[in-house]
Amino acid sequence: MIPAGSLLVAEGLHKSFGRTTALDGAEFSIHPGEIVAVLGPSGSGKSTLLHCLAGIVAPDTGTVSYDGHELSALPDRERSALRRTHFGFVFQFGRLVPELTCVENVALPLRLAGVRRRAAERTAQEWLERLEVADIGRHRPGEVSGGQGQRVAVARALVTSPRVIFADEPTGALDSYSGERVMELFTEAARSASTAVVLVTHEPRVAAYSDREIVVRDGRTRDPDLPL
Ligand code: ADP
Repeated sequence: MIPAGSLLVAEGLHKSFGRTTALDGAEFSIHPGEIVAVLGPSGSGKSTLLHCLAGIVAPDTGTVSYDGHELSALPDRERSALRRTHFGFVFQFGRLVPELTCVENVALPLRLAGVRRRAAERTAQEWLERLEVADIGRHRPGEVSGGQGQRVAVARALVTSPRVIFADEPTGALDSYSGERVMELFTEAARSASTAVVLVTHEPRVAAYSDREIVVRDGRTRDPDLPL
């Protein structure tokens, strides 16, 4: 049953890559302002679930609905526009644009939304300050450490005040202090702006920030509090 007031809902997701079944009937739902940790062994389908929820990967069968709209029913342009304006992403290893400086990377989602360069870069610089990497704004991603790059990626995900943040191992490259800082910022976004946060993680101390945990195993999802 779908809980009332859900912002993002997935039902009956199946996805195969060749002979590999990545999702085998996965379900998901999240409320505005809720932080859900997605746990499970490596290869169980967590990233594929995240990509389906974000409309990056189309499931073979099953549906994903955001705010009452089924993602696969939207034309590509509308789905891309929705991803740009409503969703923020932190992928594994950051995935920054190497040719742009760090501040330009963070400003990019604002620039794509039509914000002028100076204003976008000013806001971007404020986010770098919040993540305590203000001094690397003019460097390119290749010139900063993995942990600094990951913080830039987190700033880029938060800069548009998205309604949903999708984060795949966002603290993987970070020391425990920086990881906690990132989780505090996600929590602040959830509490003050009702941002929903979908968080794939292996780390119990990161999952501890979530309101709810789900476990993915062999492409199926379950609530860890329910009996097997
Ligand atoms: P997790 O995030 O839990 O480690 P994934 O969702 O990345 O799991 O992967 C689930 C399964 O699907 C794995 O067996 C993986 O090898 C496979 N898989 C995921 N993405 C692809 C892809 N693009 N092409 C082929 N196989 C894939």
